[in-house]
Amino acid sequence: MRCLSGTSARSIYTFPLVGVMCASLSLLGSSIDGHAESRPKPAVPPPVAPSLDVDVATVVCPSCDQKFEFPGHEEANANLVGNKYVQELRQAMYWQDSYHQFESKAHFDNCAFGESIQYIAELLKEVNTHVASAQGDIDNGRDDAAEGYAKKAFFSLGQALHATQDLYAHSNYVELMSRKYKKVVEIPILHPWEPQHVKKIGELKKTGLVSGYVFWGFPQTCPKGVPSHANLAKDSPTMKSGKLVIPHFENLTRYKVALFLAREASKDLIVYAFERWPLLERMSGKYVAFEIFQERRGI
Ligand SMILES: [Zn+2]
Repeated sequence: MRCLSGTSARSIYTFPLVGVMCASLSLLGSSIDGHAESRPKPAVPPPVAPSLDVDVATVVCPSCDQKFEFPGHEEANANLVGNKYVQELRQAMYWQDSYHQFESKAHFDNCAFGESIQYIAELLKEVNTHVASAQGDIDNGRDDAAEGYAKKAFFSLGQALHATQDLYAHSNYVELMSRKYKKVVEIPILHPWEPQHVKKIGELKKTGLVSGYVFWGFPQTCPKGVPSHANLAKDSPTMKSGKLVIPHFENLTRYKVALFLAREASKDLIVYAFERWPLLERMSGKYVAFEIFQERRGI
């Protein structure tokens, strides 16, 4: 069951109706499934993403020698606030939890690893198509049209970025790796858009990698006994699993470890995208900013 199909549904004007439809479908779904899940589905976040807070955002300069934590951050910040392409990327990340909240694949929920990986691949294909269209418009002097396609490219990339972060927030990857490694920095960063890493995720799935069961998300592919999203997720420092500390990781919480891994993977995805599609930088400038685990369905 899905509320919306496609990967780019984003008309702000359809939001209230979609919200009502999804809420009722969700309640119906939960009662049909008969799961002992009495909590109401979390409220959808407000439709407009908060303004960029450059002090908490992750800033990346894909074409710089020093891509991360570079000097001259103030210059970057001045260019980022009000950047329409960065805004598009962030809005897409933000809307995933409302327009696509019932799709397991958008959040690596319900053990839907294969579906989520496929979803990210489709989104990157969309980026490729939009970039080609933007380039075609530039070549023909249609700058306004090119801007529209470039914005769409950033939107699709933002959707892929959200899913990538959820791989770390919604699975037990942190738990599995904390048993294997002595330091957080030794944990491999998984890139769910790269074939070698996709293979690795498949292998991990055979040896215990799961993601939380979400009663409002579909498909639900977890084997019996997998913990619920509420018990497994690490989106925030107050969640049941997120607040647990890992003593041999210098008492970092699972949330902090997931946040670190998601941030590293996010940076890598942005660098990958900007190197693959140089037009992204030509349109938006050399700096990109985004949040990690920004708005998480109120849970
Ligand atoms: Zn999500």
